[in-house]
Amino acid sequence: MHTATTDQTPQLPYLAGLNLTGRRAVVVGAGTVAQRRLPRLLNAGAAVEVIAPEATPAVEALAEAGELVWHRREYRSGDLDGAWYAIAATSDPEVNAAVGAEAEQQRVFCVRSDHAAAGTAVTPAVGEHDGLLVGVLSGGKPRRSIAVRDALVEALRTGTVDVHAEPVAPGVALVGGGPGAADLITVRGRRMLAKADVVVVDRLAPRELLEELGPHVEVIDAAKIPYGRAANQEVINRTLIEKAQAGKFVVRLKGGDPYLFGRGFEELLACAEEGVPVTVVPGITSAFAAPALAEVPVTHRGVAHEVVVVSGHVPPGDPRSLVDWPSLARLRGTLVLLMAVQRIEQFAEVLVQHGRDAATPVAVVQEASTGAQRSLRTTLAKVAEEVRQHEIKPPAVVVIGPVAGLRGA
Ligand code: SAH
Repeated sequence: MHTATTDQTPQLPYLAGLNLTGRRAVVVGAGTVAQRRLPRLLNAGAAVEVIAPEATPAVEALAEAGELVWHRREYRSGDLDGAWYAIAATSDPEVNAAVGAEAEQQRVFCVRSDHAAAGTAVTPAVGEHDGLLVGVLSGGKPRRSIAVRDALVEALRTGTVDVHAEPVAPGVALVGGGPGAADLITVRGRRMLAKADVVVVDRLAPRELLEELGPHVEVIDAAKIPYGRAANQEVINRTLIEKAQAGKFVVRLKGGDPYLFGRGFEELLACAEEGVPVTVVPGITSAFAAPALAEVPVTHRGVAHEVVVVSGHVPPGDPRSLVDWPSLARLRGTLVLLMAVQRIEQFAEVLVQHGRDAATPVAVVQEASTGAQRSLRTTLAKVAEEVRQHEIKPPAVVVIGPVAGLRGA
């Protein structure tokens, strides 16, 4: 016999964007499944009511903060009165079915988290990028939807998919690139890079990210600007201002965090003076990331209740120094020294001289997060000698304090 249709594609749902602002959305159940659905409902401005005898601490916290209303009881028929949208997310399929049946009768679109095909709505895999929502539905293959969503969002972030439908407003973004590994920049930082017309990059910024930039992007290497340090900064400031004034979106890509010994605020002030708009994107600072990547926590309960980040840019006693080394020597917690490798002997000495125990543990971490990362553990008494012996070179972070003596597994 001849059959009319052989290759049946599954019926795909109708993808819509719901305007839920101020509208009643009822979520039955308050476990981890419900919890995952709540942030997007709340972001959409829905008037969310959760019905469940028990809730996860996160849902409870949302209720306490007044972000949603939690009815601490079992679901009962009539709960969907006046609702625009419902999610049945209890661990009991019978309850979910009852919610689904009421929703059907009331004509409220309802997601069945236990049995997607039985509901009248399905939650797409959603991704967000720069004010854009991407939703993916695959007709019952959630893993596929998630994979596609992830790939799309990644492509948007890296600029593989060009989203410059609207021109980017000229200006400067001071972006902290993190300690060096390409994937330790923030999502926002990456997004800024994808929009850049010009990137002015520092020596310690994650340079791998430059490979992702389109051919139209002008890359200016700040490390290659001749002149001395002060003049160099002046040239960078001028470059940022001139490019922005020429209508470009300029990303100033820095290592770590732009405001931690990164001269970022000088650049902000210079731009502000010329009326150039600046946004700042904080970064993961090497001061905390380098210790973490060498298994040193900068604080630890019962061990260190303070952490002070210090620049070793000028030696102790130098008239330009703003650091009170004798006071630092009296602290019991953690000292993190940056730019301190070359003068480590002087720093160790001044600390011991003013009272820090010479047996205090010390960790030194070089080129953290890169393929060349190296670290050593020693003491204040021996650190200078060990740094020399092991030929530790900048960039490196020096961590002084009992935390440097802790060992992980
Ligand atoms: N703004 C940067 C710090 C700039 S000062 C930040 O927040 O990380 C430069 C110093 O940072 C270096 O001398 C070194 O002490 C430290 N540093 C930067 N990157 C590093 C890395 N990958 N590993 C170890 N230390 C690093």
